[in-house]
Amino acid sequence: MSDALPREKIDWFPTINYELCLADRACLEFCHNDVFAWNETERRVLVGNPRNCVIGCTSCAQICPVEAIRFPDKGELRLTLRRLRAEATATGTGRGGAS
Ligand code: SF4
Repeated sequence: MSDALPREKIDWFPTINYELCLADRACLEFCHNDVFAWNETERRVLVGNPRNCVIGCTSCAQICPVEAIRFPDKGELRLTLRRLRAEATATGTGRGGAS
């Protein structure tokens, strides 16, 4: 979907509401993309590698028992992707096949 676009310009990754978080590590164990990390000192899960998050994926938010994980608005994501595709087309840096 967006593999030709610069990942660093796409703000899609989870954030954790620590007022709700139980530190049960369910998200850490669930996600295989190394997005989350355990901080032993603080005894809590961190979003250690946010750019590893798959664009548009919200699966970890579904498994969090207290709905502590949030993602940006998908409408905003669509606008960002559209803008980046237009920029890539205009500069000739896109593959031309992204939809
Ligand atoms: S699954 Fe939810 S409650 Fe558990 S560590 Fe992750 S954010 Fe915290």
